[in-house]
Amino acid sequence: MKTRHILGISGGKDSAALAIHLARKEGDWRYFCELLAASDCADAAREIEQARQAPAIEHFFTDTGKELPEVYEYLGILEKFLGKPVRRLSPFPNGSDANAAPFDHFLWAEHGGLLPSRRQRWCTYKMKIKPMNAFVGDAPTINYVGIRADEASRSKLSSLKNVTAVYPFVRDGLVRDDIVALLEETTGLPDYYRWRSRSGCYFCFFQRKSEWLGLRREHPDLFEKAMRYEEETFDPDTGRMYTWMDKISLADLDQEAGSMGERDGEIIASDGPRSWQESLLAANLAEDDPHDQACAVCSL
Ligand code: SF4
Repeated sequence: MKTRHILGISGGKDSAALAIHLARKEGDWRYFCELLAASDCADAAREIEQARQAPAIEHFFTDTGKELPEVYEYLGILEKFLGKPVRRLSPFPNGSDANAAPFDHFLWAEHGGLLPSRRQRWCTYKMKIKPMNAFVGDAPTINYVGIRADEASRSKLSSLKNVTAVYPFVRDGLVRDDIVALLEETTGLPDYYRWRSRSGCYFCFFQRKSEWLGLRREHPDLFEKAMRYEEETFDPDTGRMYTWMDKISLADLDQEAGSMGERDGEIIASDGPRSWQESLLAANLAEDDPHDQACAVCSL
């Protein structure tokens, strides 16, 4: 069976930069041969050597339907730059009604209203990992992953038996500054980096308080929707309510931010990043946090 070559685009900077990095190697089949041979993928390296052609890499995006608008916008920019589509993967077969709102389907039909959290992270498995595994199927597959050379300690993604993860940035020695420079000279960085350190769902529970404040400022409608999810979990019998953040509800944060007031479009006393450079600095810190590393599949 012929080897497939895939690359998951998360909407984050590293996977996008990897797609561009590898697209630039399209005319250089020897690069892929060496990369795969060095990654213990001898069969795939041999296939490329015989064809004397770089592999046709399939790009995909696992869509929760709840990603940031900037992510969807950036996908379009990236597709235009690459000159090929990024395939959207849904957790359900084509034609299923649940495709319209997969997150809400899982939340209510399968998890009884239990919102995902760091401890109950059903969202990643059901909406990211499972659709990816279904997409991969049984064929021997090379999965190109955007972990960088300066992330040696970052946990590698687990794979199916027939899938081998390959890390071109690690082999090529590319670090964060290289990735940022590559994006600056091609597609630019996804716009959310002005106020948030990574991609993912707008209500992602891995967000910092400053990022929630950023969501409130940049997308008040989505902040409102995230707040509604919390309210819907309120149990009048126990008085308990799920909150996306530890110890504070979005309603309370909203009130807190409102009472602080806003000036020149920025929330006073927010510890939120004010430029994408500062935001990337926050992302650097996030990548050093073992809890955040667990979210690599959503935001790499
Ligand atoms: S981005 Fe966050 S909320 Fe969305 S699937 Fe990933 S972990 Fe879950």
